[in-house]
Amino acid sequence: MAKLGRELRARGFDITDLSLGEPDFDTPEHIKIAAKKAIDDNYSHYTPVAGYLDLREAICSKLKRDSNLDYTPDQIIVSTGAKQSIYNTVMSIVDKGDEVIIPTPFWVTYSEIVRMAGGEVKIVHTSIDNGYKITPAQLEAAITEKTRLFMFSSPCNPSGAVYSKEELTALAVVFQKHPQVFIMSDEIYEYINFVGKNDSIAQFDFIKDRVVLINGLSKGYAMTGWRLGYIAAHPTVAKACEKIQGQVTSGATAITQRAAITALTGDMEPTARMVAEFTKRRQRVMELLAAIPGIVCSEPEGAFYVFPQVNNFFGKADGDDKIENADELCMYLLNKAHVSTVTGSAFGEPNCIRISFANSMENIEKGFAKIKEALGKLK
Ligand code: PLP
Repeated sequence: MAKLGRELRARGFDITDLSLGEPDFDTPEHIKIAAKKAIDDNYSHYTPVAGYLDLREAICSKLKRDSNLDYTPDQIIVSTGAKQSIYNTVMSIVDKGDEVIIPTPFWVTYSEIVRMAGGEVKIVHTSIDNGYKITPAQLEAAITEKTRLFMFSSPCNPSGAVYSKEELTALAVVFQKHPQVFIMSDEIYEYINFVGKNDSIAQFDFIKDRVVLINGLSKGYAMTGWRLGYIAAHPTVAKACEKIQGQVTSGATAITQRAAITALTGDMEPTARMVAEFTKRRQRVMELLAAIPGIVCSEPEGAFYVFPQVNNFFGKADGDDKIENADELCMYLLNKAHVSTVTGSAFGEPNCIRISFANSMENIEKGFAKIKEALGKLK
């Protein structure tokens, strides 16, 4: 959608981009200064594959500070973005024919990496009535002897669902009964949480050895282009990820790693300001959605997306285009309303679309006005 949007923009159309998957803010000043200093201090050589020791220590301190989790540096592997952390994790754990349970809606990369590893993706559909969260009964029913991994994000991209401590406890109790299952807990949106503090499933000691916690700097510090993610896991999993990474990238960029220490140990005020802005936008977006007849949407508890159900528009036409599914609706919104969004089919929920509010309030107002007008023409 971003590519199609750029093409239309190049042809002179005024495209409003509500498909963005990254904060529309700049990296905080103190982190940029740390990176410039790292260049001047000649951090220009290979780093340890797992990441500098002082960075891994900083990550351990962060996990203690924010989540009261105890990890040691040998359990931390720093990678080139959370995406590579997820890749390393799946490649380490999943063999050909292993089953991997992924509740919908899910970040599209999860299923594709599992397929690259030769694993069998087992989708479990959640419902809007349950806030797009998997229930313990659904989880229990999906686990077999071949299940090797469960993958989820909280806060969730794209639904914004955030699992509470009680909900995580109930899932952990199910995992306790199935010692063959690892749990990949993607917490990259940790700080963009509108309902409280992030709870991690790694807090339960009886399953902690099987939890691979994924996090990174992209979303919470507006550092998507810097490419830094990490895992916290049992040393056996960490070692396996280190081995894979040693043959693939040799580790994350030295400059980014030095700047990451400043990000993780430094002033959190810029993050708080960014989240305050997302909070205002989320409220406005919910008002704008409520004013569009036919749209059904749950309120996101975290991240910076709304994930409305749009199937009320399927089978309708504007006299020109007939809309049969979410893919076609997204194309209709792009071509007729000049707003880019992302189809829910990419996230395993084909009745929905993802609309990002990582854009200015002005562009959000403009984009939603155009969406409302275009949807109003579908009869
Ligand atoms: N996990 C989720 C749920 C995401 O939405 C994203 C990015 O969109 C990532 C991981 C990847 O983050 P990174 O930029 O650190 O690779």
